[in-house]
Amino acid sequence: MMEDKNRIDALYGQIEHEVRKQIRVIIEREKVALAEGFYVVMLSDPDSKPFLEAATVQQRLKPSMAVWLEQLLCSEDSAALTQFIAMQRHVGEVHARAQIPVNLVLRGMQWLKQTINQHLQQSSLQRDELISAVLHVYQLFDIAFEVMSVSYVCSHDMGVRADEAFKLFVSGYNMAAERERQLGALLEWESRLFRESAIELPLREVVYLRASSFGLWLNHKASLVFDEQRELSALNQSIECIDTTLIPQLVAAQAVEMSNDSRRILLRTIQHEIEQIKFLLGDMFDRANDMEVGRDVLTQLFNRRYLPSILKREIELSRRKGFSFAVVMLDVDHFKKVNDNYGHDGGDLVLQQVARLMTNRVRSSDFVFRYGGEEFLLLLTEVDEGQARKVAEKLCTSIAETRVMLLTGKTITVTASLGVALSDGHPDYERIIQRADAALYEAKNSGRNRVVLA
Ligand code: GH3
Ligand code: MG
Ligand code: MG
Repeated sequence: MMEDKNRIDALYGQIEHEVRKQIRVIIEREKVALAEGFYVVMLSDPDSKPFLEAATVQQRLKPSMAVWLEQLLCSEDSAALTQFIAMQRHVGEVHARAQIPVNLVLRGMQWLKQTINQHLQQSSLQRDELISAVLHVYQLFDIAFEVMSVSYVCSHDMGVRADEAFKLFVSGYNMAAERERQLGALLEWESRLFRESAIELPLREVVYLRASSFGLWLNHKASLVFDEQRELSALNQSIECIDTTLIPQLVAAQAVEMSNDSRRILLRTIQHEIEQIKFLLGDMFDRANDMEVGRDVLTQLFNRRYLPSILKREIELSRRKGFSFAVVMLDVDHFKKVNDNYGHDGGDLVLQQVARLMTNRVRSSDFVFRYGGEEFLLLLTEVDEGQARKVAEKLCTSIAETRVMLLTGKTITVTASLGVALSDGHPDYERIIQRADAALYEAKNSGRNRVVLA
């Protein structure tokens, strides 16, 4: 960042005000033609077909390209330009999400540089001024492209990694084997300890839990597999308690010939601690398994983890096969009041009920995600606008009509607002989410308990 700023300051320091003015005159005059030409170059490449739709180029991309050129080449001061260059990071991220090949953008940029160069050659600039103008333009393009590519590469890598995880999930990877193995290892350690203490083998040679096969796995691998789970620290506390308090007592008991009763109590305590470990371990595997397969624990819906992969795939499918799909954003109305009036558990029951209704209302080819707290995202495959609206409206009505039974036996009702966006061929999956979100916002503002189309 700082480095970009210094480079831009240096560029501005080197160039005469008059020369910059001449560049500005040319860009102001030519920007529409330049933007036009840029997309002619881009579209002439057969590789661009999947990414650039003629209508989108005409309506949105060309005008914003003209503005982009203006901001890059006509900024009054270096601070404004530094800010603009920083924004190219975001452009790179968008390109990565849309999977637009970098070389395609590079080719368009090279054409822009050359064409602006030709215009500069025809201007009234003197030789020295001309050289500094051309250099200035080229260097600005290079910085912008560099910043764009860096974030492109980073986002692209991350996308690839998420996709890899997605493949793993699809291919049916599960943690069942690891779970059995670790429970087995723990059991083995436990029975050895009890066997040895029962026949009074020298307990001094006892293998501490931390050093057992299970302990080693927990120390070295579990933290990688389970991230920052709260069970991990509870597990470590239990192990600590066994290794540093209970086992030393057991060892000491042999020396002082502890009464059988005290000994039994001590062994019971160890046993209890091990039960606790098994319980925590089970919980940890359950939750990790849910995460692993991309499931939300409360509702058993998909969580957001694979949303990008799934949306990218739908965009790709709809491009190839020519059908449209829809994204429906659903948000429960006044949900805070449900929590306030009936407690968090009441709120959870409502969320589970809404999730169930959504799952039951859609076809098996559709996807239901828990998007956030009380927000859900529905991906309807192969639908047109009319069908998508119908599904959303039926869902809206059935949520409002359904009585949710609380643990107290009392039944309550809730409503939800929905925003629907039909795919428009835009390659960036975040676009369609944003459109659905904007429609949802409108549904909220126009009175809730309704469906609005983007
Ligand atoms: P609006 O109609 O504008 O959507 O109002 P709202 O009250 O539904 O919206 P807001 O976003 O203000 O409140 C959402 C609440 O949802 C706040 C948060 O405490 C609660 N929440 C989020 N996740 C959960 C959850 O898993 N369980 C429960 N019970 N509540 C949750
Ligand atoms: Mg909300
Ligand atoms: Mg809400």
